[in-house]
Amino acid sequence: MNTKNLKSSKGCWYSDGLHFKCQRCGKCCRGEPGYIWVSKGEIKKIANYLGISLDAFGRKYLKKVNGRYSLVEFTNGDCMMYDNGCNIYPVRPCQCATFPFWQKNLRTPADWKKVIQICPGVSDGPLYTQKEIQNIVEIQQRYDSQE
Ligand code: SF4
Repeated sequence: MNTKNLKSSKGCWYSDGLHFKCQRCGKCCRGEPGYIWVSKGEIKKIANYLGISLDAFGRKYLKKVNGRYSLVEFTNGDCMMYDNGCNIYPVRPCQCATFPFWQKNLRTPADWKKVIQICPGVSDGPLYTQKEIQNIVEIQQRYDSQE
């Protein structure tokens, strides 16, 4: 499903909006192994934020997967940027900044229920309107299409 479908679908299941406020618990940053995609622009911002050279950042924190870059994780699946909170929160990658409003999490109420099970932030916080949520989905889609 693309955002066009989300927009045009009558009776979108979250037409009343969804609540979210990140509690910075780190549950989405730890545990399950995966990829934390970063663009070249994000890499520069993060390295600059950490005050290290691009070379040093690349050696320590990046891996290349099918032509894209991902932040590395510890062997237990925890993001290396997580240490009792995200160490790069102001410059965190788009993938992290747009969570939990990812298209795959919004397809059905059942998909959203899976998010509720891992993210305490979705039961609380300000209400995001359908339009705001769709804008966030579009940000992520634009990001993916540039990669
Ligand atoms: S699981 Fe939810 S509340 Fe916890 S850090 Fe991730 S987004 Fe924030």
